[in-house]
Amino acid sequence: MPLKSATVDTTPIWADHVSIPRFPRLERTLEVDVVVVGGGLMGLTAAYLLSAEGKSVAVLERDRLGHVDTGHTSAHLTMVIDRRLTELASSMGRNHAQAVWDAGLAALARIETIVREEALSCDFAWVPGYLHDAGPDRSSRPAERRQMEQEAALAGDLGFDASFVDEVPFAGGPGVRFEDQARFHPRKYLAGLARVLDSRGVRLFEHSAAEAFSEGPRSVKANGHTISCDWIVLATHTPLMGNTGTVRAAAFQTKLALYTSYVVAGRVKKETIPDALFWDTANPYHYLRLDRHRDHDVAIFGGSDHKSSAKSATTPATGTSATSGQQGQVVAQAVLGPIGKTFKGSGAAFVYKSGNQSFVIVRAKLPPSSAGRKYVLL
Ligand SMILES: Cc1cc2nc3c(=O)[nH]c(=O)nc-3n(C[C@H](O)[C@H](O)[C@H](O)COP(=O)(O)OP(=O)(O)OC[C@H]3O[C@@H](n4cnc5c(N)ncnc54)[C@H](O)[C@@H]3O)c2cc1C
Repeated sequence: MPLKSATVDTTPIWADHVSIPRFPRLERTLEVDVVVVGGGLMGLTAAYLLSAEGKSVAVLERDRLGHVDTGHTSAHLTMVIDRRLTELASSMGRNHAQAVWDAGLAALARIETIVREEALSCDFAWVPGYLHDAGPDRSSRPAERRQMEQEAALAGDLGFDASFVDEVPFAGGPGVRFEDQARFHPRKYLAGLARVLDSRGVRLFEHSAAEAFSEGPRSVKANGHTISCDWIVLATHTPLMGNTGTVRAAAFQTKLALYTSYVVAGRVKKETIPDALFWDTANPYHYLRLDRHRDHDVAIFGGSDHKSSAKSATTPATGTSATSGQQGQVVAQAVLGPIGKTFKGSGAAFVYKSGNQSFVIVRAKLPPSSAGRKYVLL
């Protein structure tokens, strides 16, 4: 299939046909047990668990629920974090490494329980996950192979359901298969969760940024109104200062850095790609997953994270790399199939090959408002 041209649309595919219910601004004073600041996955989950324990809860969201990171995530639900298990074990010991992955498994189980008990329709499915070799000629990379054998062996030793495989389906080459990982549709999930919270009497406020925090009595201010509370949960992804001292808060901020990443999505025929999570050993790495529809699938492919300030971001993935000069319009398309024309516009594109399939990932100049965010380009 030749490459088609399209202007970059930074609307995430999750926004298609899914609307998260709207909620009012905070317009009066209130008193609750807990104020949750931030209405993404973390904030709504905290509100759900707290209200299940009988606490009265208010959620303050600066923008709209689920429209920031959680609304743009590629939503691989996995216990496997970016640092290898073998690295975790050598830096923090086997028990702590195991605890990190156990926490991931517990989070997965929690999401599945919420989906089941609340009957949320959000395309949740258990799928296997595959770490696979990123090299062009995978059979001739004994060091990578050995590393993955070690990774699989340690995971097995620590009680995780993982095994070394000679040939990863679709991606090809050696890898590690992890059982019982999952995927879901993040906006459908949050839309369902928001409806459940609303029906339980949790007070949800949008366009209500927490502007000030006070102690004695403890309270949070938004839109000029105050909510008094016993507890505050900060679920803003990038932490706010809250009630910590300026020095501690500033020290913490120095540990944070803004990262940019790239995600493209394209329609593929059903059964072209197995329903699994894939990520490779490149540094920075690339990942792939499916969003299934009745008559087609959507492949979501991304990665190449880099610090937003870095001038030149990524080493191209395997295959061709290309750049182009023309500023302004960016033409980008994710395709599966042989690469025909490359793209035109500003930015750089490179081609990722997985088995006999090719993906184009485009590093495009995005509008300033999108800096630091990962977007699905379709
Ligand atoms: C492209 C992309 C791909 C990703 N892929 C994966 C993946 O495959 N698997 C995975 O596990 N993770 C992935 N992540 C990361 C994951 O999406 C995030 O870690 C997660 O969504 C964070 O949820 P959150 O609730 O903490 O933050 P958010 O969803 O960002 O929610 C925080 C909320 O706080 C609000 N807020 C901020 N300040 C205030 C304030 N002062 N007052 C009120 N509200 C405020 C914001 O408006 C926002 O809505 C990915 C992220 C991106 C962007």
